[in-house]
Amino acid sequence: MHMSEKNNVVEIKNLTKFYGNNKALDNISFGVENGEIMGFLGPNGAGKSTTMNIICGCVSPSSGNVTVGGFDILENPKEVKKRIGYLPEIPPLYLDMTVNEYLNFVYDLKKVPFDREEHLQSVMERVQIYDKKNRLIKNLSKGYKQRVGLAQALVGDPEVLILDEPTVGLDPRQIIEIRNVIKTLGKNRTVILSTHILQEIEAVCDSATIIANGKIVANGTLDEICKSAGGKDEFIIGIIGDSQTAYNVLSSMPNVRRCDISKKEDNVTEFVVEQLSDADILASLTSEMAKNNLAIASLRSVNPTLEEVFIKLTNTDALPLNGGEVESDDSSI
Ligand code: ATP
Repeated sequence: MHMSEKNNVVEIKNLTKFYGNNKALDNISFGVENGEIMGFLGPNGAGKSTTMNIICGCVSPSSGNVTVGGFDILENPKEVKKRIGYLPEIPPLYLDMTVNEYLNFVYDLKKVPFDREEHLQSVMERVQIYDKKNRLIKNLSKGYKQRVGLAQALVGDPEVLILDEPTVGLDPRQIIEIRNVIKTLGKNRTVILSTHILQEIEAVCDSATIIANGKIVANGTLDEICKSAGGKDEFIIGIIGDSQTAYNVLSSMPNVRRCDISKKEDNVTEFVVEQLSDADILASLTSEMAKNNLAIASLRSVNPTLEEVFIKLTNTDALPLNGGEVESDDSSI
């Protein structure tokens, strides 16, 4: 958990939000470390947008604290706004402006202290739209419009980027391009990226926070999250000795549901063994092997995938792991 580390650039403590009687956020706490790309994941209505809107100062909290770069969002909203670039799900683009006109407009709005031409050129280069600077935004493809959306978030060089479902509605090539741009941007700033697409988290993020029903149900690196959800009833067991005997012994153990050979290398054969839930085959494994002149060379449990963890923690129907690879305007996938 990155809950109270000094290095956190965004710190959320005991945040609660009511809309009327509806508790959208229920005492949530988490932090985002400086320089990390954090995936913010949760089913529809979990509270992602509410959290992001509170961090950006667009919605006020009912109780709790949020700081960005050490500044409290309520006490120092200007300092917070300076530090945040926000790409809402539908970017606020002015379609009749050229890319350059629009970014100049955003530059003025944000009262950016850097040299205008130099700064806007570097922003456009970072999202690779400099060659489109004189095109009307309405004539750009959806992928390029999204780059303009990212560019407006980058104007002023904020240390934190908040991106709400940045790849929704893009085609597969555009998705890959935008993900690469985000990964590059994340090299020297902090990114919070909300998405429904688990594969996007795996492709882009260092860590994730999973929210369900207004509560944080997991927070950490992807590895930590998968491990903390508990191992599955599956083991990879490497055996030295006759592989057919090993197979026969393993598959006839009373609590073994499934046994497959996964790989054979020199004198070690690896098996994937699934036990019945709540069974403990490990207790009798050593003696069973010894009885049959077999030796255990390696043994490890298989961690659940992010998708399995997500389903377990949020009690929702399966999400498409590769949902982002389909061109779709349906933001509810
Ligand atoms: P989605 O993925 O569908 O965008 P989300 O995780 O972003 O969902 P929120 O939009 O933050 O979820 O919504 C959290 C809860 O708060 C939901 O129950 C939603 O209906 C409610 N809610 C959000 N905005 C408002 C509002 N302006 N007025 C009343 N209720 C709201």
